[in-house]
Amino acid sequence: MTRAIYPGSFDPLTNGHLDIIKRSLRLFDNIIVCLAINREKQPLFNTDERLDILRQVIGDEPRASVTVFETLLVDYAQKMNADAIIRGLRAVSDFEFEFQMALMNRQLAPAIETVYLMPSARYSFLSSRLVKEVASFGGNVSDLVPPIVNELLKEKYHTWS
Ligand code: ADP
Repeated sequence: MTRAIYPGSFDPLTNGHLDIIKRSLRLFDNIIVCLAINREKQPLFNTDERLDILRQVIGDEPRASVTVFETLLVDYAQKMNADAIIRGLRAVSDFEFEFQMALMNRQLAPAIETVYLMPSARYSFLSSRLVKEVASFGGNVSDLVPPIVNELLKEKYHTWS
């Protein structure tokens, strides 16, 4: 059985993340979506809220599970017996950071491959940061995030219309 972990901040989960999860389920038997706790980032959605969203949206997929981790990614991947780390690659701007991270992770854990997947073109401009910015001004992001995230963004930014 092949297993991959897909780490991220998911603040909040977008349709771009879901696109990557669906694609990775075609390649791997089992996907662990891992919420990475980064104390240096000030998230809009707290850890419990982000976990709750992930569990609600992908809870029906028996081959995917949701966890949270606060350690070194490769240590966590090894502990979970993962064969690969999944990351999404949107544009050239993602490349430099991802390249450094993949090679650093290979240095630390040579047996774990990082696999990059490209989302559908319609999500290749999409980021959680941009979704939050647009939603904070009352812009319509309903085509870009799961319905539950759309509702929670309206609550957070008081932009019910
Ligand atoms: P991180 O803080 O780890 O970058 P994110 O939640 O922003 O957390 O992203 C997690 C992963 O999902 C990253 O590999 C990122 O490139 C990918 N990702 C984010 N948005 C998209 C998208 N629209 N299409 C494809 N991949 C995406």
